[in-house]
Amino acid sequence: MLPWLGENRAIHLKLAPPPIIESVHLEKTLLRKVGEAIHRFRMIRDGDRVAVALSGGKDSATMLEALLLLQKRAPINFTVCAFTVEQGKFLSSIEPVGDYLKQRGIPWTYYRDTPSLRLLEDQPEHGCDVCSRFRRRAVYEIAAGLGANVIAFGHTADDFCEALLRNAMFTGKLSALPPITTSRNGDYRLIRPLVYVTEDITRAYAERLGVPVVPCGCSQRTGTVRRTLRDMFAELEVDYPHLKETMLSAMGNLDPGRLLDTRFLNMRQDEPQELFPILSEA
Ligand code: SF4
Repeated sequence: MLPWLGENRAIHLKLAPPPIIESVHLEKTLLRKVGEAIHRFRMIRDGDRVAVALSGGKDSATMLEALLLLQKRAPINFTVCAFTVEQGKFLSSIEPVGDYLKQRGIPWTYYRDTPSLRLLEDQPEHGCDVCSRFRRRAVYEIAAGLGANVIAFGHTADDFCEALLRNAMFTGKLSALPPITTSRNGDYRLIRPLVYVTEDITRAYAERLGVPVVPCGCSQRTGTVRRTLRDMFAELEVDYPHLKETMLSAMGNLDPGRLLDTRFLNMRQDEPQELFPILSEA
């Protein structure tokens, strides 16, 4: 027992850690995971201006806070700003998010994207591919206006794991999401600093911050592949709580010799050999 604590106090700490200790631990875990991603993938460099894409949800709000905290401690200089694209899909007004950021003194740009709003009127049933194409164009326009060279997206460890399974099962490709990439014209570095952060962390942290969450209508959809995968993870994680961490490790530890892509197999292609005939059923 620590000498300056009385007997009762020590017992209290052991049985139920006070919230302040839990929240410090939560923030430490968050910053360690975000810091690890930034370091490993060289996401942020000296002189960068990072524009954080705020979706109105818990994940991007957590990411913004983490980047602001890391900005104060980092040995390099970078600036952070935030923006939100209005595509007409929020279930309620985004105003509370604006009020919250204003109170905190965080610069925020709210951008009503007219082409996206028109798309929603003309083709209400449009799919994610069109929607995200429209959003991408708007995001680049905003980033240009903000003078940013880096755009940060709030995809979490959960999103990476779901994307890996979805692509393997439905697109015939073993891939997830890029933690770092550049825009097609090379103007922006696109980063996903929450790659190692699971949503139980973002949920708890956003709650602790008291960030207003404005849900997107799409998040309420049922019967989607995404929802099915989420339910499957939730069920498996009852018995295997570190499932997502293991999947993330797997994504960084490929064994291509045990997959079927001939580009990565040692088939001694330098030696001429007879091609084995492909048998047909006829
Ligand atoms: S889930 Fe909704 S908001 Fe997201 S890309 Fe698809 S249509 Fe757009």
